[in-house]
Amino acid sequence: MLRPTRASPRLAGLKPARSQSPSRAGGSTPATSSTKPARKAGGKPQPEYEFGGPAGAAGVMLLLPLVIGFLYAGCGKHGCIRLPEDALDVLAAAPLAPLWDWTAAAVVAGWTALHFLLYVALPGPRVEGVVLADGSRLKYPMNGHLAFWLSLAGFWHGLPLLGCKQSWVYDAYLPLATAACALSVALSVWSHALSYLPNTPLAEGGQTGNPVYDFFIGRPLNPRIGSLDLKACCELRPGLVGWAVLNLGLAAKQHEQQGEVSWSMVAVVGGQLLYVWDALYNEQAILTTMDITTDGFGFMLAFGDLAWVPFTYSLQARILVDHDPRLPAPAVAAIAALGALGYVVFRGANSQKDAFRRDPSDPAVSHLQWMQTKRGTKLLVSGWWGAARKINYTGDWLMGLSWSLACGAASPVAYFYPVYFAVLLVHRALRDDHFCATKYGADWEAYKRRVPFVFVPGIL
Ligand code: NDP
Repeated sequence: MLRPTRASPRLAGLKPARSQSPSRAGGSTPATSSTKPARKAGGKPQPEYEFGGPAGAAGVMLLLPLVIGFLYAGCGKHGCIRLPEDALDVLAAAPLAPLWDWTAAAVVAGWTALHFLLYVALPGPRVEGVVLADGSRLKYPMNGHLAFWLSLAGFWHGLPLLGCKQSWVYDAYLPLATAACALSVALSVWSHALSYLPNTPLAEGGQTGNPVYDFFIGRPLNPRIGSLDLKACCELRPGLVGWAVLNLGLAAKQHEQQGEVSWSMVAVVGGQLLYVWDALYNEQAILTTMDITTDGFGFMLAFGDLAWVPFTYSLQARILVDHDPRLPAPAVAAIAALGALGYVVFRGANSQKDAFRRDPSDPAVSHLQWMQTKRGTKLLVSGWWGAARKINYTGDWLMGLSWSLACGAASPVAYFYPVYFAVLLVHRALRDDHFCATKYGADWEAYKRRVPFVFVPGIL
């Protein structure tokens, strides 16, 4: 997502920081803050800003809600941008009222509260995160997979009990999005305020002293209410599962309007459900992502998790409700096959590294070749990681591309995700290359000589 520097979907996570990074959860890698070195300017330490510093952070905070609004206005039942010259007419025709609705606000608040409750109350193993700077380790409940199924069932059966059809989410899409934006701002203000309580662990990157920047990037490292870890819970639960249930409601709307669910809708909703399920099923892998170990919980993560993910990632399903291209079944089958290929690469590469980082002698990875580094850790040089250094990103991107292709030529707006995601992943790959060059020194250069391709073996 928009934040091409580290894990999370999320902005770069305005992305849900997908939780596929090497999992040493329960391992002993200390949470370091090597991403925010101070540099000297005229002898005075200067914070090293991302996003263009305070002005850039302020700009991003203003821009992101507008992007959500633009995507909504750019294609919907009122019309859909097909050519650049259509854009102004379509945008002007967009119904931007009601922007706020108390029922929608209550649903967003209730949905988020439900996920907070499931996080603390559901059974599941409690797993230790990485070692923090003070030597301690926090525990995290691993019950996200159960929460996923329960909340999906709750959505499907609960809304009718409240007198609403599941397709109501389509009718209330705009006020739901506004409420999610408002909630994420409220949560980040609250979390920022809490960070001034004594003895609150802070994220190194969120202590520049500039209030706008620190609010954006995140000041408190692990804000908690009892056993509820706000950052870990928001990372994978209300927004990510919210994306899945929005999609189900959008498919229900298509069925209501057209008497059937199209093959394109099946491919998009099915593929994205798999993506969300996969993140929850592999929940433990988030514990070693930068989002959890290093980033503070501020606007960037709160907005990315709660507003950006559900209301930009559900774009294709929303477009299909009113502008389904009715692609022939063989075309949709080919598109679904592309998505399946992406998933195989994405899951295969991430699982291989995850298993290797947990236990290199695991029979699933013990046959792979690796090189020893002076840092102490090993780098895989065969299997997925010998094919290309960021082949997991390629798999992820292919899935995103397949979802947009399922919208055919309905609108260029439908292609927002693969374009945005390509920018994010390229930037992220550059950043990770920089981090690894810092971590591994000459060993990283040796690894790059052995595995010269980044995204596509033999090509790129
Ligand atoms: P990676 O999973 O690529 O992890 C990078 C780290 O892996 C490196 O810093 C290094 O850490 C380790 N590593 C690199 N090369 C090797 C090797 N050859 N052998 C063993 N370890 C290696 O990064 P991300 O966390 O960015 O991505 C995880 C997943 O999340 C990806 O599939 C990505 O597509 C997805 N994602 C999804 C987003 C979304 O919005 N949907 C946004 C961002 C990411 P070390 O050596 O210290 O272990």
